[in-house]
Amino acid sequence: MGKSYEQFRVIGLGIDPIHVGTGGQRLGRVDLSIVRDPVTRVPKIPGSSLAGVCRTYAAMALNRYPMCAGQGQPEQTGHGGHCGGRDCPICTVFGFARGTGGGFAGLAAFSDAHVLLFPVATRKGPLWVTSPSVLRLIGCQINDSLESALYQKEGGQPLNLGWLLLEVKQHNGWQEKVKQLFCDKDLREYVGQNLGLLRDDLFTHVVNSNLEVRTSVSINPETGAAEEGALFSYEALPRATVLMWEVVCKNPQHFRIGGQEVCAQVNSKPMSAPAEVFEVVKKAHDYLEHLGIGGMGTRGMGRLWVIHSSSASSSQASTAASVEASQPAPGDSTGSHGGT
Ligand SMILES: [Zn+2]
Repeated sequence: MGKSYEQFRVIGLGIDPIHVGTGGQRLGRVDLSIVRDPVTRVPKIPGSSLAGVCRTYAAMALNRYPMCAGQGQPEQTGHGGHCGGRDCPICTVFGFARGTGGGFAGLAAFSDAHVLLFPVATRKGPLWVTSPSVLRLIGCQINDSLESALYQKEGGQPLNLGWLLLEVKQHNGWQEKVKQLFCDKDLREYVGQNLGLLRDDLFTHVVNSNLEVRTSVSINPETGAAEEGALFSYEALPRATVLMWEVVCKNPQHFRIGGQEVCAQVNSKPMSAPAEVFEVVKKAHDYLEHLGIGGMGTRGMGRLWVIHSSSASSSQASTAASVEASQPAPGDSTGSHGGT
């Protein structure tokens, strides 16, 4: 029956600043702040936002928009909502909220998107910084304890990261691992030449002091002038931030919808393995590059270019197969939460 699941890693580069908001929480001088990791305080894109946006774009790409996109609740007349078909690539991959066999959680699970490389202005031009805990996400372990310094391929004169001046020390070995994530050769060389490593706490500090903050004002349509008291500011991850997220794709053959097998197709082939589930997710990637993610899309924000996507590894994937296969399939709980 094959592996029970497979993990895919996706790397995206912001072509615009990216604002995924918290929903109007004021933070210091900023009115509309972005979502942060509660522990590290580094901004991130929640997996729920990624999953929702990817669902919408994949539905557009596969002619399932708008019915299989969105939250899926039918209108009061009973029309609309997710189709919930076991032959629907969107409803099987992203889940659905109703249907003949009750709800279904979906075959693809999205992690949060974390900042992997953060661009910061220096007197020598842009530098992309990262940290040990971030590098661990791509399987790169830094064992040395780091000082309050910037670590680069070669040591040298102190360098400013924004307003913060740091000593430059030498640290090698991790740069190649980062460069492997760039499929585009020119981009790989350019970013690869300008990489820096910071201790975790310094990384948080540098990221939060170098976010893009913009100020906007609402315009009164009658006068064409600024509305009184309508000035607001918002923050965003700057252009050229590199983000990483993971998508765990489950094996469609291990799941039942309404007691029956999943029979969706992708690229004119039956969706019968985790890799084909990821093919459906990948349909959204082109749209991310043009339609973007998060808010302020009409103000030049949000476009995210997927520069790399691949299977993270397959060594652990097969061992869990027998455990998961023995669990009842989610669709078997017929009608328990479908009829409300
Ligand atoms: Zn559907």
